[in-house]
Amino acid sequence: MALPLPGSLTPSKVATFKECALAFRLSAIDRLPEAPSEAAFKGTVVHRALELLMWEEGPGRRDQEAAFSMLGRALDELLASREALQLGLSTSQLEDFAADARTLLTNYLALEDPNAVRVIGTELRLEAQVDGLRLRGIIDRLELDRHGQLVVTDYKTGRAPSAGQEQARLGGVNFYALLCQEVLGRRPARVQLFHLREPLAISSEPSDQSITSLRLQASAIWAAVKRACLREDFRPRPGPLCDWCGYHAYCPAQGGDLSLLAPADGAAVLQPDGAALLQLDGAAPPEANGAAGPGANGAAGPGVPEPTGADALEANGAAGLAAGSARVPGPALSLVEEPSGR
Ligand code: SF4
Repeated sequence: MALPLPGSLTPSKVATFKECALAFRLSAIDRLPEAPSEAAFKGTVVHRALELLMWEEGPGRRDQEAAFSMLGRALDELLASREALQLGLSTSQLEDFAADARTLLTNYLALEDPNAVRVIGTELRLEAQVDGLRLRGIIDRLELDRHGQLVVTDYKTGRAPSAGQEQARLGGVNFYALLCQEVLGRRPARVQLFHLREPLAISSEPSDQSITSLRLQASAIWAAVKRACLREDFRPRPGPLCDWCGYHAYCPAQGGDLSLLAPADGAAVLQPDGAALLQLDGAAPPEANGAAGPGANGAAGPGVPEPTGADALEANGAAGLAAGSARVPGPALSLVEEPSGR
């Protein structure tokens, strides 16, 4: 029986699909809950502190003292959350947690002067229909540059990618440019990733060409996801993501057992030709029971198996983005066009 189709994709899910199709399936289709982690919670707290810094302090007052004060407020807000309660940090662990969060905020201040930021939105939820795919995402920060152009900023609090992974990670964030174009009717002049751990800034300048490339890539990704769902063919692709993946117990590449999974529910139902009959975020409709029809069972059949995930995208000619990018250690941030950029 075919797997249900996800109702939508986010930039991070797109990046996951390109890195490991099985990790994507377990997260986006089987919807296995991710175990609470101190790292993820720290990311939530630091994002909130930076959001407060932008809105609660005006230009000229956004300094380290203000950032640390906002961290205190963020902790006051979030320590009562379910995520925090599940973590159950001890007093000493909480002190270490707060100290590390202060380091991340200090590193942020090495990447840019927040007083120069003309913020117009934070935690913005955008959603657009792109060639049958519902693409959605939350933009950490949207601002105007000195020319009045949009700039999208995404904060990362984990480890920065290696140079080899950089384009894949930036590729996910570039989908925010496509979302802005679709929803706001304006293409951002720049999208930038701030890795607060290093600190490191990576940026790209979307163009008409790169937006067109993103559309093609979104279509190719959606086609690959639909094909993988029909064939129940989401293969593990061991790599750097494994270090962060919480699904080792289900992953054959890690000695896990995929049969531990309960049947997936929700999302959409596929016809044999891969078209979505229905898109739901909740439980699958009655047609899900066997509605996929002949050809949907039995995965790829006796022929040569087709690639999934990143391999499938390459087969669809959609690998890589045209946008130029820069990888500049803090404190300076500048843009360098790649020769083959756009
Ligand atoms: S452990 Fe690695 S190969 Fe297995 S699902 Fe996770 S990312 Fe993929």
